[in-house]
Amino acid sequence: SSSVAKKPITLRLCGPRGFCAGVDRAIQIVVLALKEYGAPVYVRHEIVHNRYVVEGLEAKGAIFVEELDEIPAEHRKQPVVFSAHGVPKSVPADATERNLFYLDATCPLVSKVHKQAMRHQKLGRHVVLIGHAGHPEVIGTMGQLPEGAVSLVETVEDAETYMPPDADNLGFVTQTTLSVDDTAGVIKRLHERFPNLTAPAADSICYATTNRQEAVKQAAPGCDHFIIVGAPNSSNSKRLVEVALRAGARKSVLVQRASEIDWDDFADVSTMGLSAGASAPEVIVNEIIEAFRERYGAVVELADTVEETENFLVNRELRHVPLTTL
Ligand code: SF4
Repeated sequence: SSSVAKKPITLRLCGPRGFCAGVDRAIQIVVLALKEYGAPVYVRHEIVHNRYVVEGLEAKGAIFVEELDEIPAEHRKQPVVFSAHGVPKSVPADATERNLFYLDATCPLVSKVHKQAMRHQKLGRHVVLIGHAGHPEVIGTMGQLPEGAVSLVETVEDAETYMPPDADNLGFVTQTTLSVDDTAGVIKRLHERFPNLTAPAADSICYATTNRQEAVKQAAPGCDHFIIVGAPNSSNSKRLVEVALRAGARKSVLVQRASEIDWDDFADVSTMGLSAGASAPEVIVNEIIEAFRERYGAVVELADTVEETENFLVNRELRHVPLTTL
């Protein structure tokens, strides 16, 4: 057979990628709580949307539950951690009522959005939350205010038809992990319809979401394929696939592990992109790079944009426990 060596794949590795400061902090909180209080440590909802992380913590003695009533009476003294996505106000209230000891791992940037929603309301504004229905962060943000005080707007079409209780007293906040470009479109439409709509004091979309999207946007033109490492329920990861496609990648998929890669897709690929959502660990990025090196002799080209220096302190109760890695 003719054996013309195939030119190796160029793999554009985006930076920043993967873990953000809020995810890193949330995982640390569970690890440190296990060290400080011993197993089991309960975690309400996936601490971050990643199976690998969840299974790693389970192996250390974390038990994941969806609701507090799943915690058995004999373990009431063990801590329960609330996930990075944030929780409605009813959850800590319920925990207190049940005499549970809780550690809140809500990302400080999600808490900031909660505060801005509360501030809008305090100033007499009805709150418009731009976000995805059913996502835990959306449930948490809506649950900062009484029922009916927040309206969810998901798309430009929603913005088109939304009927506020008082068009002159409206304030908005957004989910932290939305598409920067789509959200700008939704806000623009709302502003056109409601000129008195008040923005939050600072952008709700977080630095990590913005930076990961920007890096993918810059790397995508000319890519035959673009892999995003992330879970199907990870909002920020799904947005990276959309960004890659819109910025010119011919194809883009979300994968959780190297084993999910459909190798048939890569037969004619000469340039590909690789990035990871904020909840995806670097070990999986490395696993995927290795797989491409083995099969295609992939040559990694670093596609870095900005450097991130954000770092969030863990809860006061845990600050004396030495930090470790997962
Ligand atoms: Fe916090 Fe943003 Fe990370 Fe979410 S993606 S945990 S808001 S830093």
